[in-house]
Amino acid sequence: MQGIMQDWQLTVDKILDHAAENHGRREIVTRSVEGPIVRTSYSELHSRAKQVSAALLDLGIKQGDRVATLAWNSARHMECWYGAMGIGAVLHTINPRLHPEQIAWIANHAEDRILMVDTTFLPIIEGAWEHFRTLEKIIVLTDEQHMPQTSLDAVPYELWIDGQSASTPWGGFDENTACGLCYTSGTTGNPKGVLYSHRTNVLHTFMTLPPDVMNLSSADTVLPVVPMFHANAWGLAFSCAAVGAKMVMPGAQMDGASIYQLLNDEKVTITAAVPTVWLMLLNHLEENNLDLPHLKRVVIGGSAVPERILRAFEQTYDVDVVHAWGMTETSPLGTLGALPAHLVGADIESRIAYKLKQGRPPFGVELKIVDDAGKRLPRDGETSGRLMIRGLAIAAGYFKGEGGNKLDEEGYFDTGDVATLDEMSTVQITDRAKDVIKSGGEWISSIDLENIAVGHPKVANAAAIGIYHPKWDERPLLIVQPAPGETPTKEEVLAQLQGKIAKWWTPDDVAFVEEIPLGATGKINKLKLRETFKDYTLPTA
Ligand code: AMP
Repeated sequence: MQGIMQDWQLTVDKILDHAAENHGRREIVTRSVEGPIVRTSYSELHSRAKQVSAALLDLGIKQGDRVATLAWNSARHMECWYGAMGIGAVLHTINPRLHPEQIAWIANHAEDRILMVDTTFLPIIEGAWEHFRTLEKIIVLTDEQHMPQTSLDAVPYELWIDGQSASTPWGGFDENTACGLCYTSGTTGNPKGVLYSHRTNVLHTFMTLPPDVMNLSSADTVLPVVPMFHANAWGLAFSCAAVGAKMVMPGAQMDGASIYQLLNDEKVTITAAVPTVWLMLLNHLEENNLDLPHLKRVVIGGSAVPERILRAFEQTYDVDVVHAWGMTETSPLGTLGALPAHLVGADIESRIAYKLKQGRPPFGVELKIVDDAGKRLPRDGETSGRLMIRGLAIAAGYFKGEGGNKLDEEGYFDTGDVATLDEMSTVQITDRAKDVIKSGGEWISSIDLENIAVGHPKVANAAAIGIYHPKWDERPLLIVQPAPGETPTKEEVLAQLQGKIAKWWTPDDVAFVEEIPLGATGKINKLKLRETFKDYTLPTA
């Protein structure tokens, strides 16, 4: 027997319809690429997104066609996002921090027909133009006045949507229709595309709203520093509209001073970004003796939250830190570190200890850890294994079948992370499977070594990698980027680790570099470091 309820397809256009109808005057504030702060509203953004839809239809864009963006977080980017998705096209967010030829490779693989690009990134496209095979039209996200000279067949966005109808119909297709495409920066082989559906994006939106997840309200002002091109800005382009929260978009500027200015001027209550952004902000606050009177909560993820950042927010600035874990393949939220009942009101040290872990899955996410043979491991908070995930918005495979079937026989996806789980499903990520240092058959967590090392005031950044050792197979080498003007010694760095790790985890050597290379999503580029240090001989070898 079937239920007798309405068939209301879960398509994301309904999210912006809702925002425009019920929160029409709430603002979306952007630091524009052209310079000034620009203000719009959900109602206006809705009309302009519909104009984008009309302009796309004029170009012959049909359901399932890929429309790409190479853009910062901005109201215009949101308009392109909803404008494409609303008519059943697939909005493909491209990460501009990738190498230009890799961008071309991704655009060709996705068979992108249209590209909407910020002026900042136009030179990337011009420089690699000979490699693009499928693009038919370039839309530059600016007006005629600011349109740069270009050799490409390109139109300014404002001119392109000018005069288009603001009542293009949206939706009316199946909720399982593809909606968004995002490539993961694969560390081996070519990037792979994660193809979200309308249904999974809407369900993920519902999943992110409750107090133990993002805790979003229409009364909040949200600054997503995390880019829309990195795993959908952790869903915020959907979830803020779903509740009618005011949005503040940082555009191209993510340095400490620029972020502080937006937090302060716009009275932001919730913000989200990777740890590197928060390091820049905290340095700016310290150097200028500033405060964060409006900010209630900061969501930090993408890589583990270093203790220094956690303590600064919680203890110095009285801001609640929510440590989040997830990946492009998980839409992206997987676990979040809201305090469980028994720790609410607990002493600060217990809360800090909990928040250093990656938190727990919301309803809609299921986790297990397994050994190399796929056998379940105990949830004792100590045994570590490969973290496996299934749920309402988790990838089943990759675009065009790259990499084959990705699920085990119970339907879980292998995250490639190594973690412990306790009996309440609290996750502690101990490493990426490929970054774990294997010493004498035992595992050393590179993340642990790095996080403790960056706690030293003379250390700006640190990375641990396994180096060949004739007896132990691998031993850790700690690579350190000194803080500006500092020259830490090997002994000082190792003293920082002493007592905080098992003795046999102590790195066999410390190497100093001017700069630790970061990848396209701001994470340490271990591939590059392993390449640089491939002939390194440890003093213990
Ligand atoms: P991406 O798909 O680029 O977002 O990368 C996802 C990967 O980032 C995960 O598989 C983890 O290895 C890492 N990651 C994300 N969040 C965290 C976190 N809070 N702590 C440790 N690693 C994380």
